[in-house]
Amino acid sequence: MDKKLIIAIDGHSSCGKSTFAKAIAKELNYIYVDSGAMYRAVTLYCIRKGLVKPGMISLEGITDVLNDIHIEFVYNPDLGEYETYLNSENVEREIRDLDVSSHVSRISQIYAVRARMVELQRQIGVLKGIVMDGRDIGTVVFPDADLKIFMTASVDIRAKRRYNELKCKGVDVSFEDIRSNIIARDITDENRDISPLRRADDAVVLDNSKMTVDEQMDWVRKIIEEKFR
Ligand code: C5P
Repeated sequence: MDKKLIIAIDGHSSCGKSTFAKAIAKELNYIYVDSGAMYRAVTLYCIRKGLVKPGMISLEGITDVLNDIHIEFVYNPDLGEYETYLNSENVEREIRDLDVSSHVSRISQIYAVRARMVELQRQIGVLKGIVMDGRDIGTVVFPDADLKIFMTASVDIRAKRRYNELKCKGVDVSFEDIRSNIIARDITDENRDISPLRRADDAVVLDNSKMTVDEQMDWVRKIIEEKFR
């Protein structure tokens, strides 16, 4: 395929968006951008600076430090994957822990945070040939994306997948905490005033509760074949 596409993948927390997005990017030789990692990196920075704590959030403080936050995705040849760097520090593991997960939805509701992240995401998108996953990629960041996919799966399946993923990475968490965190994030993401999670009218829906990654790839190959070749 000669035309370079922008592929937007949105959906609920922990439904396998990044695994799927990475697999598509690899197959098409595209760049993969994890927009959630960007919100997580901002959240980690704010936690470290004491700008967010349980029950407290310093809107003014966060707005003031936004320009001090630099996020990059650096390729790790050993893993064959991109990792998230916050001001030149590899934070890939830390941004996935429960402390960051429990604050990230509140941080990502802040208008100034979203405006800055969307600006950075659009800059990356200028290159085309990208797969970006998140919550508002097809609705706000790239409303003209060539292909929009909206992913979902049942809460229990999502909690189980996240639990297994974190266990593999050696993070100490309980299944119940993860399940509650997923439910809470769905509610916050779907009900926030700015860029709430919703399916774009022209997005195709993928419920992968009972699908393997290979089956999801077959599904998307067919769509790309029909739409663009
Ligand atoms: O995708 P992931 O679960 O890592 O994203 C973490 C959080 O970042 C989400 O729960 C959501 O609150 C926020 N997010 C967002 N917009 C995006 C991507 C993520 O608000 N495009």
